[in-house]
Amino acid sequence: MALKLIDKVLVANRGEIACRVFRTAKRLGISSVAVYSEADKNSLHTLMADSAFHIGPAAPTESYLNKMKIIETIKKSGSSAVHPGYGFLSENADFASLCQQNSIVFIGPPASAIKSMGSKSESKKIMIKAGVPVVPGYQDDAQDIELLKAEAEKIGYPVLIKAVMGGGGKGMKLAQSSKEFITQLESAKRESLKAFGDDRVILEKYITSPRHIEVQVFADTYGNAVYLYERDCSVQRRHQKVIEEAPSNIDEIKRHTMGKTATQAALAVGYVGAGTVEFIYDEQTKEFYFMEMNTRLQVEHPVTEMITGLDLVEWQFRVASGFHLPLKQEDIKRSGHAIEARIYAENPYNSFLPTSGKLIHLSLPDTWDKVRIDSGVRQNDEISVFYDPLIAKLIVLGNSRDEALNLLHSSLSNYHVCGLPTNIGFLKTLVNNKKFRDYDFNTNFIPQNQHELLHKPEISEEDYGIISACLSIKESQCPKKTTSPWDKEEDFRVNSESLKNYFFENFEAGVSVKLSKGEFKVNSGKWNMSIQGSYLGNNTYQIKTSNGIQKVRVVDYEGSLWFVNNDGVVHIVSMKEQYKMEDKGTTQTVLNVKAPIPGKIIKILCKPGDDIKENAVVAVIESMKMEHMIVAPRNAKIVNVFFKEGDFVNSKDTLVVLE
Ligand code: ADP
Repeated sequence: MALKLIDKVLVANRGEIACRVFRTAKRLGISSVAVYSEADKNSLHTLMADSAFHIGPAAPTESYLNKMKIIETIKKSGSSAVHPGYGFLSENADFASLCQQNSIVFIGPPASAIKSMGSKSESKKIMIKAGVPVVPGYQDDAQDIELLKAEAEKIGYPVLIKAVMGGGGKGMKLAQSSKEFITQLESAKRESLKAFGDDRVILEKYITSPRHIEVQVFADTYGNAVYLYERDCSVQRRHQKVIEEAPSNIDEIKRHTMGKTATQAALAVGYVGAGTVEFIYDEQTKEFYFMEMNTRLQVEHPVTEMITGLDLVEWQFRVASGFHLPLKQEDIKRSGHAIEARIYAENPYNSFLPTSGKLIHLSLPDTWDKVRIDSGVRQNDEISVFYDPLIAKLIVLGNSRDEALNLLHSSLSNYHVCGLPTNIGFLKTLVNNKKFRDYDFNTNFIPQNQHELLHKPEISEEDYGIISACLSIKESQCPKKTTSPWDKEEDFRVNSESLKNYFFENFEAGVSVKLSKGEFKVNSGKWNMSIQGSYLGNNTYQIKTSNGIQKVRVVDYEGSLWFVNNDGVVHIVSMKEQYKMEDKGTTQTVLNVKAPIPGKIIKILCKPGDDIKENAVVAVIESMKMEHMIVAPRNAKIVNVFFKEGDFVNSKDTLVVLE
C-alpha cells in the first residue's frame, strides 16, 4: 500500500512551538487543530490552525497536561495524529502509550524509548552497554546515604548530584567537598521529590570546564538513524539555555565521532523521530560524555534548520507517516553559522527572574532568509504567569560566526518590547562580549562574568530632552481618535509661543520645550538643542537633531514612559505630576488631576472657569463596581475638563487641569 502523509494533526501545545508546527502543516497540506486553555483563548496559535478547541482552565495540569482531555479532543476533531511540541506532554511515556491504545499517531518516539531516556540512571546504564561514553559516576538503584557518600568519595570531588527523573536543572546540586555532600544531597532530594515525585539521585564527576554540545538525530521506523550535526548550548543562566549555535568549535573528526555516537545512542533505545543527544564536552581533555537524550523536538531546532536548509517538522511528519528518512547521512550538508537567542520576559538585573504582563509595544526586526523569528505573541498579548515566559526566538545565519553575531546584534537592536522587562539588552551585551566572541566560554560563562554582562545602560541627559520633545510632538500632532486629552488638538495645541516644562523622577533639572518656527527648542538649563520631528504612529517618532536623524519610541504605560532610543536600548522613566506652562508671556502653574484607576466616569462635578476648594470632588469614577471620588488637591480654578459623563478612562489619563 502506498504511504500517505498524515491528513490532520492536533498540536497539544501553545505559543511559538504550536505556531511553528502549524506553518509546516499548512505548507504540506495537513489540516491542523489547536487546543487552548482559558488564558489562551485569543492567542496567536489558535488563529493559525484550521480549527481550535478549548480544553480547560489556565493551569497546565487542567489543560495542556490533561491527557484524557487531549485524547478526547483529538478524537472529537477527527485528527489522526498529535504533535506534542516541547515541554507539556512531549516526554510523557504514558501519553505516548495512550495515543497508541487509541490508534492516534504520536509524533515522537515509542513510549519505551521515552521511558528509557526519561530516567538518568536507566539511560546511563543503556549507554554504557551500547559503548557510549558517559560521565564517570554512580547510577545504581541503592540509595543508602552512607553508600552514596562512599561513591562520591570514589568519584572524587567536586561531585554533581542529579535527580534520576530530573530535567530543567531541577534537583541538581553541586557538592564541592565531602563536607557539603550530605546537605547538598538532602537539598537535591527535596527538590526532586517536589518536582518529580521521586527522590532518587545519581552522582557524577563534575566537569569543571564543560561545554554543552548536543547532536540532533533523526531515526525512522526502519532502523535507520542519521545525525544533523551539533549545537553548542553552553551559554546558560540557571542551567537553562539562552544562546544556541551551530556548528560548535570542534574539529571535523570529533564532529563525526560525536554524530556517530549520538545515532548509536538513539538506536540503542529503538528511537524514532527527532531527538537530541546531549553531551558534556570537557574543554581540557577534549573528551565528550553522554548526558541525556531529549526525546522530542528541541526549542533550539531552528539553528539546525538554518545550517542544513531542512525543515525538521516536515521530517517529523514524514517519519510519523511511515516514510523513510528523507536523506542519507552523506547527503546531509551544512553551511554557514547559525545562532539563536531566546528572548524572555525576565529581568537579568534581578537574578533573571521571569516576569509577566502585557506586551504594550512590540516591534520586530525585518525577517528574511537569514533572520528568522519564531514567536507566538503579538503586540498587546499577555505573557502569562501560567506558562514559560519565552517571547520569541531570534535566529540568524551568517557566512561566519562573526557575521552571524553581528547580524544577531543588529537584529536585537531592532527588537523592541515595552510593557515588561526582557533580556534583550543583556543579550546584546553578551553577543558583543570579547570572551564570548573568542570562544572563551563554558557553561559557567554567565555566572562567572556577571560584572561584565550585567551592567544596566544609563539614560543620558540628552535622552530626557528627546523624550520631552516627543511628548510635545505627540501633543501637537496626535490624531483625534480617542477620548484621551492628548488627542484633543484644540485643547492641547502647542502653539508657536507656548513653552512646556517636563519634570522627571531622577532628573531634577527638568526640561523645557518651546515650539518655534517648526522646531522644538529643548533646554535643561545646562544644555539646549534644537529638534525637528514627527510622530510616525505606533509610539514611534522620527527625530532630527544636530547628530542626525533618529527613530525613537516613547510608550506611556501605567504612569511610566518606556523610551527606546535609536540603538534600541529601553529605558523606563517616570514623570513628576506637576509641570509649569508659560503661555504668551503669562506664567501659570497648572496641575493635572489624573485618573488613579481605569474605569467609567459617572459624574463630572466641575466645569472650566469654576473656582473650587481643596478636597472638593471634581469627578467620580466607577471601577470594578466601586465608586472612587476624585478630589481637588488644593484650592484652584478649573482650566479644563477632558471627559464627559459616560466616558471610559485609562489609569493616569488627565481628567481635569487646575490652575
Ligand atoms: P537537566 O536534565 O536537569 O537539564 P542535564 O543533565 O541536562 O540536566 O544538565 C544540565 C546542565 O548542567 C548541562 O547543560 C551542564 O551545563 C550542567 N552539567 C550537567 N552534568 C554536568 C557535569 N557532570 N559536570 C558539569 N556540568 C554538568
